[in-house]
Amino acid sequence: MPKYVYDFTEGNKDLKDLLGGKGANLAEMTNIGLPVPPGFTITTEACRHYLGHGGMPDGLEGEIGEHLAALEARMGKRLGQADDPLLVSVRSGAKFSMPGMMETVLNIGLNDDSVLGLAKQSGNDRFAWDSYRRLIQMFGKTVLGIDGELFEDAMDALKGERDDTDLDAADLQRLVETFKGIVRERTGRDFPADPREQMDLAVRAVFDSWNAPRAILYRRQERIPADLGTAVNVVAMVFGNMGPDSGTGVAFTRDPGSGRQGVYGDYLRNAQGEDVVAGIRNTVPLQELETINPEAYRELLDIMATLERHYRDLCDIEFTIERGKLWMLQTRVGKRTAAAAFCIATQLVDEGLIDMDEAVTRVTGDQLAQLMFPRFAATAGNRRLTTGMNASPGAAAGRAVFSSERAVELAGQGEAVILVRRETNPDDLAGMIAAHGVLTSRGGKTSHAAVVARGMGKTCVCGAEELEVDPHARRFTAPGGIVVNEGDVISIDGGTGAVYLGEVPVTASPVARYFEGEPAEDELVRAVDRIMTHADSARRLAVRANADTPEDAARARRYGAQGIGLCRTEHMFLGERRRLVEDLILATTPEERQAALDALEPLQTGDFTGIFTAMRGLPVTIRLIDPPLHEFLPDLTDLAVKVALAEERAGEAADDRDRRLLDAVKRLHEQNPMLGLRGVRLGLTIPGLFAMQVRAIATAARRVEDARAEIMIPLVGAVQELEIVREEAEGILAEAGVEAAIGTMIEVPRAALTAGQIAEAAEFFSFGTNDLTQMTWGFSRDDVESAFFGRYLDLGVFGVSPFESVDREGVGRLMRIAVEEGRRTRPDLKLGICGEHGGDPDSVHFCHEIGLDYVSCSPFRIAVARLEAGRAALTCAESDTR
Ligand code: PEP
Ligand code: MG
Repeated sequence: MPKYVYDFTEGNKDLKDLLGGKGANLAEMTNIGLPVPPGFTITTEACRHYLGHGGMPDGLEGEIGEHLAALEARMGKRLGQADDPLLVSVRSGAKFSMPGMMETVLNIGLNDDSVLGLAKQSGNDRFAWDSYRRLIQMFGKTVLGIDGELFEDAMDALKGERDDTDLDAADLQRLVETFKGIVRERTGRDFPADPREQMDLAVRAVFDSWNAPRAILYRRQERIPADLGTAVNVVAMVFGNMGPDSGTGVAFTRDPGSGRQGVYGDYLRNAQGEDVVAGIRNTVPLQELETINPEAYRELLDIMATLERHYRDLCDIEFTIERGKLWMLQTRVGKRTAAAAFCIATQLVDEGLIDMDEAVTRVTGDQLAQLMFPRFAATAGNRRLTTGMNASPGAAAGRAVFSSERAVELAGQGEAVILVRRETNPDDLAGMIAAHGVLTSRGGKTSHAAVVARGMGKTCVCGAEELEVDPHARRFTAPGGIVVNEGDVISIDGGTGAVYLGEVPVTASPVARYFEGEPAEDELVRAVDRIMTHADSARRLAVRANADTPEDAARARRYGAQGIGLCRTEHMFLGERRRLVEDLILATTPEERQAALDALEPLQTGDFTGIFTAMRGLPVTIRLIDPPLHEFLPDLTDLAVKVALAEERAGEAADDRDRRLLDAVKRLHEQNPMLGLRGVRLGLTIPGLFAMQVRAIATAARRVEDARAEIMIPLVGAVQELEIVREEAEGILAEAGVEAAIGTMIEVPRAALTAGQIAEAAEFFSFGTNDLTQMTWGFSRDDVESAFFGRYLDLGVFGVSPFESVDREGVGRLMRIAVEEGRRTRPDLKLGICGEHGGDPDSVHFCHEIGLDYVSCSPFRIAVARLEAGRAALTCAESDTR
């Protein structure tokens, strides 16, 4: 039979899975000799059994009884003993901290008899009756499910104009009777006087609180698995509310904002922990404890130093002083800001507590990303209009615009704009790309605006509900009746959610400037530099960039890219070149087609020359054209209207080219273009198109010294497709005397499943996880995120969009198969990823695990990918501060 209960002397900090964070750390503190009130922990395993079977596991009751007896023996008094009661708290504590989400009941063991014993022992009637009324109130609410307001109302009625502290023992005694009446009336039974029954019921209530709606919601947001369960800690009560020589407080061992060492905390005299949380009275800075109780203060500082040395990290603590005696109630490795995380990690290295390997695992790519966003210099001079949700970090100022078209138009004139919408949908994409920032009045952190903005690294504030957005009148109204019209300047802070009137000056972050090549000057940037340098030396994965222009390529190189993993070629066919593509499509003879290709080839050669030059000496993977051809043609409806109008006009025939184009557009129209004529299918259907691109690559490669071209074929599902393209490409390369590896993307599930065959014709694979996710799930990548992903996230179908982070079980399984079978055929097969996932921290770890050679991501995510690749190499397990 499993052991379900651990005394604090039996556990340790590494048993968080079993004892929860609080229980494991209470045990750890006990074992290093710190003053922890004695107690025991009921395991998460017992909780999982209880929740799964609807009842306590066999043997648990007996085990609790044994541990309670041991606790009573140590304390020299029994739970609820009439003349001198032992009281306990029953506290929740899951593996990951879920602050305030689950239940805790204090003062278990009080009843009509033991309250008198407590009064006598403490020599304080008021304290005893106050403790009793707190028990009934907390127990009534959390264990018996009575509406907490009933108790609060009763207390308010008794107080009248007085403060809590003005109530005397007789008042509180009367209140206890009233509270007991409420329990009787609401539950049909008396408040349980039996201390053990109180304790057992409280334990069940804590278990049940794992599935309280707010706990479920919190877990979903923090991506905490739903099946972990909580542990329960039963701890001998110590009292911070026994008089002026008692109190309670919280502290950090160093500043969680900056990482600086010092004394950071708050203290509240003559109070219990929940008073601090409820903010009933004002706390004083912890330093004042030095005057109030110098001895306890010194002991506390010693303990904090011990904890830092022991945990080798910033700790936060909760403590209570009972009549001058210090007790530790909790500690854990504390949460911190992104900047503090980097500073603390390197400080701890300098203090000899950790080595650089560990320092790298102590920070995350998400934290680094936060440090790279621009920020507002100072907001004091601007009026704050409202605060919405901080959906995507950064800071942006610009003219308010209320439609995607207007955003594109003004941005085209060189204006900075903020796109303001009630909510966004895929039609707003162009406007979102053009805008400096996005502001919506509806929708949460998983709304379309939020998801897309984060993906683009664009500042976004969403769900600013106080704003009335009127897109037709092109204005919004803020609280106080302030109207912002199109063209008025506003500023949004994606870090805080604040929206300001007027332009708040924005500065590039020092960390972003460092990655652009500025020397590391302040402490934070030096810390980032040291950690990045070490991560680079530790990582096995190379990091490449997705870049299609010489400018992007150059930026990627500055950010540390070791090559280009995906150069998409389709944007090279837009703009003025569209007409040449139209010619290609309208061609009716081989000569006409060749003429169109001949016109495109020198332009393509120029494109590739620019990119090879920017990436001289580094590999550049160029993907041959991928999207459906109609994307380069006019819109069907627009064109049809144009032709119809022309024909309607008397005597005027529609332009012949327009009519032919319309026919072509109709011919090429597809119901599901993403599953239609695109990628290699296009290359095999339009003779000469791929050949033209390969020739342009070969010519450019010959022009640029040390160019290292790789040619990548998209959307392959069968080795035969690749073989045909390969044969032609090899001929062209041989003729030009250029060497270039030829490989394929793995984007179609069939490609992954037949990777062993495909590797015969491919020197490299690059996982196109955007398409692979689309096709594995059967999700249209252009439609589903805004259509129902919000709902799916709420329902917990997945914790994070599979387009954001690799779905390890599904898409990831296909990737593993492709890696294994591809390498079996060709042991030196080079493997990478170039879907959006290449810059996602969790996906980078996955790519490390399955043995890829590189990840490729957009330039602004390269630093994050470098760091995460280092972290993945140093530890495959996540370092988790949830
Ligand atoms: C992919 O499918 O993952 C990919 C990189 O290609 P694209 O996004 O251009 O379809
Ligand atoms: Mg693709």
